[in-house]
Amino acid sequence: MKTPRYLLDYSNINFEKVYIDFLIIGTGIAGLYSAIHAHKWGKVLIVTKEKLEDSNTEHAQGGIAAVFDKEDSTELHLKDTLVAGAGLCNREAVQVLVNEGPARVRELIDMGTNFDRHHDQIALTREGAHSRRRILHAGGDATGEEVRRALTNVVVNQLGIPVHEKTFILDLITHEGRCYGALAYCHHYKKFVAYLAPITIVATGGCGQLYRTTSNPDVATGDGMAFAYRAGAELMDMEFIQFHPTTLYIPGLPAFLVSEAVRGEGAVLRNANGERFMHKYHPMAELAPRDVVARAIVDQMKKDGKLHVWLDITHRDAEFLKNRFPTIYKTCLKNGIDMAKDWLPVAPAAHYMMGGVRTDLYGATRIPGLFACGEVACTGVHGANRLASNSLLDGLVFGYRIFEKAIPEFKSFNEDLDKIPLFIPEPKYKKRRSLCSTYRKRLQLLMSEKVGIIRDEEGLKSALETLEDWSKCLEFEFSSMEEWETQNMIQIAYIMVRSALVRKESRGAHYRRDYPESILSYKGRHFVFQRESQESDSVELES
Ligand SMILES: Cc1cc2nc3c(=O)[nH]c(=O)nc-3n(C[C@H](O)[C@H](O)[C@H](O)COP(=O)(O)OP(=O)(O)OC[C@H]3O[C@@H](n4cnc5c(N)ncnc54)[C@H](O)[C@@H]3O)c2cc1C
Repeated sequence: MKTPRYLLDYSNINFEKVYIDFLIIGTGIAGLYSAIHAHKWGKVLIVTKEKLEDSNTEHAQGGIAAVFDKEDSTELHLKDTLVAGAGLCNREAVQVLVNEGPARVRELIDMGTNFDRHHDQIALTREGAHSRRRILHAGGDATGEEVRRALTNVVVNQLGIPVHEKTFILDLITHEGRCYGALAYCHHYKKFVAYLAPITIVATGGCGQLYRTTSNPDVATGDGMAFAYRAGAELMDMEFIQFHPTTLYIPGLPAFLVSEAVRGEGAVLRNANGERFMHKYHPMAELAPRDVVARAIVDQMKKDGKLHVWLDITHRDAEFLKNRFPTIYKTCLKNGIDMAKDWLPVAPAAHYMMGGVRTDLYGATRIPGLFACGEVACTGVHGANRLASNSLLDGLVFGYRIFEKAIPEFKSFNEDLDKIPLFIPEPKYKKRRSLCSTYRKRLQLLMSEKVGIIRDEEGLKSALETLEDWSKCLEFEFSSMEEWETQNMIQIAYIMVRSALVRKESRGAHYRRDYPESILSYKGRHFVFQRESQESDSVELES
């Protein structure tokens, strides 16, 4: 596939220039939290493509995993994370996550996050594949919203950090292998802006929108992975996308997540005959790792000839459910389902990207001046399958560590940003066109059918062929955010399919029906993609 360096031919565009010390892209937990820490060192500016609260973070329900209980230990948290990660976790990254996690969560509390309490103690719940109760939650099942509220209060009201909303980052500014900020289009003021900064932090989240059914909001289109890749950053572990086992299945409505914590509080899965089935698939039954539960549900749906299975929490009374899961309870009720009396129709949906922009344990990419954290980044901490509630924690821990490397880089920066060319003209000027709006829907369908929970060589190859064909759209120039997102999605989808094709085994979230077993020689090995030129990219197998 040809991957041009930029989405647009910028040579005839007039950019307004904005100079700052730290450019942060994204207003989820990773972007907001790293902005707070960057503020100690210089002038910070955050951009986000829609409104501040439009992010995966806002939708997080279950909570944040961290060792707070005296019955628990970081060794156990480490072990649970490694087991869920199915032999692919970067052990060092996991050690950092579990050891530094509690301090970061305490800081979140000091910043004003109100976690739920029980008898004046922080209430801890248990989720799938956790061996202890270690999930802090807020507002019952509205943890993300509360975290966003608290961080926004610090960013906007206490520190006065500017946030440019409705500003879509198109491409990174690079010159002689270093990053100097990003090029953007502000769709509120309808102008192009060049943000010039010695340090750029990408915190653009995941890419669930690549699938027809997803728990992710509309903004999760993988832009950060795509523009970082075009600029020369590496993408790693792109074959691993996690499907959440239980989203509410209401035909015609977007998937709504039914948190793992519901199973943590004793909910059971039932087939069309009302029988439990999870014990046939895993000794931990409903609390088995997510990939196992998602595949078991797909298998059961196939056996039943249905588009969903049932989730039953009717052993809990309405009072408990209203308090513990207010958002889920209300959403169900709105759809005519009383959780205390009725079973919930549920099906899996694309949820979390384990892969992403490859970074070291300090968020540094291979491009000086460019850092990444949160769901867009890949340290290998989640391996082949993320443990529930480790993702918000990841955004905090690695969003914080960035500054150990970024600050020395910032302090030694002595270039004149005004002299940096904003882009390098491409050899071939692009032609303008409009992208048929059905492309995105067709892409989502293709990914769901051929690159979903269960994959095989034939399906992946046919997906690759289709994407090769669609990738021609990258050579044209479009004029709306929706079209730019779709171009990014096609680019990311292509790398996901190539990664899935080269991993001829099953591991964690990547299940190949033609290679159903894990193969020892793939254990701990990662596929890394990098754009070398417009004509070619490279794939490497790294240990
Ligand atoms: C329904 C749901 C429930 C979840 N529950 C939990 C949970 O209980 N516990 C847990 O640990 N994890 C949970 N997760 C996962 C977790 O919420 C995310 O992985 C995490 O919030 C990601 O944070 P982030 O800051 O990296 O990205 P996000 O929160 O997704 O933020 C990304 C930001 O980047 C912006 N952006 C993207 N592209 C561009 C662009 N081109 N230009 C400008 N801005 C851009 C977006 O608008 C957004 O502001 C859940 C996810 C979902 C969807």
